[in-house]
Amino acid sequence: MQQLNRTMAASKSIALVAHDNRKESLLNWAERHRDALSRHQLFATGTTGSLLSNRLGLEVNALLSGPMGGDQQLGAKIAEGKIELLVFFWDPLEQQPHDPDVKALLRIAAVWNIPVACNLATADFLFSSNLIDSRYDQSVPNYENYLKRRTSNG
Ligand code: PGA
Repeated sequence: MQQLNRTMAASKSIALVAHDNRKESLLNWAERHRDALSRHQLFATGTTGSLLSNRLGLEVNALLSGPMGGDQQLGAKIAEGKIELLVFFWDPLEQQPHDPDVKALLRIAAVWNIPVACNLATADFLFSSNLIDSRYDQSVPNYENYLKRRTSNG
């Protein structure tokens, strides 16, 4: 599919999610990066979001809990361009009842070329980048053109 450029603003919409065994890691990481996080708009799945807002004292838009549809809500927002970066500490050592939703979230993040951190080291690297507080020209699928081609081909 053809690509087009879309500009992310310096202040971004960031989603944070952690499975139960990874929640403490995410909370500790978020505390270390509280200042940086405070410059962005934060979204999260339900439980992660309420833990984060309690720990950080920042506003977090908490959606439904992950297994109840929260991962899918985040995926929809990524597809709509409303979430621009994902920190997702999924649990690599335990089965999740909502594994299809987890895969779908990671897949849609890859489709829309958003930065994704699935562990502490990657999250640290992402938040050490100048790009976290800068505008960024992001290459995304040109779906409008794709649709026009498909419909004109009959
Ligand atoms: P939770 O969901 O933040 O509501 O625990 C996380 C997940 O399992 O995706």
